[in-house]
Amino acid sequence: MFQISRRDLVLGAAGASAMFGLSKPIAFIGAAEAQQAQSFKKYMIGDIEVFSLSDGVWEKAHDENFIRGVSVDQTKAALKAAGQTDEFVPVPFTIIAIRTGGNLILIDSGTGAGQTGGPKAGMLAKSMADAGLDPKSVRTVLISHFHGDHIFGLMAKDTNQQMFPEAEIVVAKTELDWWTQPVESIPQPRRGLAQRVQATIPTWKNVKTISGEVDVARGVRAIPAHGHTQGHTAYLISNGGQQLIVTGDATNALALNVRNPDWQLVFDHVPDQAVATRKQLFDRAIAEKAMVAGYHWGTPNVGTIRKDGNGYAFTAA
Ligand SMILES: [Zn+2]
Repeated sequence: MFQISRRDLVLGAAGASAMFGLSKPIAFIGAAEAQQAQSFKKYMIGDIEVFSLSDGVWEKAHDENFIRGVSVDQTKAALKAAGQTDEFVPVPFTIIAIRTGGNLILIDSGTGAGQTGGPKAGMLAKSMADAGLDPKSVRTVLISHFHGDHIFGLMAKDTNQQMFPEAEIVVAKTELDWWTQPVESIPQPRRGLAQRVQATIPTWKNVKTISGEVDVARGVRAIPAHGHTQGHTAYLISNGGQQLIVTGDATNALALNVRNPDWQLVFDHVPDQAVATRKQLFDRAIAEKAMVAGYHWGTPNVGTIRKDGNGYAFTAA
């Protein structure tokens, strides 16, 4: 929730929803604090502290090959229907941090100060500072998958030097294995990234691989969610009867394949499996009354999901 002071200005519903995507009027002190409120947001799952941290947004140019069988006009209509600009596809980056049992954990590491994602990406360090989180305190980084917008924060831009040498880096063995297979076996467009992965992560001593559904920290469990990549992994945070499924890239932006789960974006390695996985994760969340978070949903990106026609609708917590 936003910090609210007695001196608040109360905005009308229209102004508030335009800024925060909320349906109710909210109160806040001023524009500077509104900015700060958007760079991070804190939640509790039982006694576990969960932070959403903005790493900025990629203003992706439209491209006919972006979504299989879906035209740019249809994509623009979906963005407009969600109240967003249709001049480009807004793809926000949002990292989840967890404080549990005195341990600071990141789920994914962001774009690495904008090594990918364009000039408006790379806000993670600022967002962590705003949230009062010190990168030096990170003891564990749980990785959803090896796309650059999730792992470049592990490595310095030109030197590939480790950014979290003292932390344990946890990744599914299937994910590590896929990216470290002989590079000729990897589809051409992904070879450059595979080469950077091969030059870094497998050489690091602080990498731990996991297989299957397994506990990775107090109150945190890895959930295989393959399809977006061959080893893509979601993480379930549970404590005190509450649950949050951090779905990673099981979907991209809310207006795209949350609303239209059958849409197959070019980023999905195994498209049919990706479609099945996102529906399974969301249906599990609905059945278990779990909250959900998505990496490309922007802030706030923690909330509830419900069936809505052929797709799903997200309501921020
Ligand atoms: Zn991503």
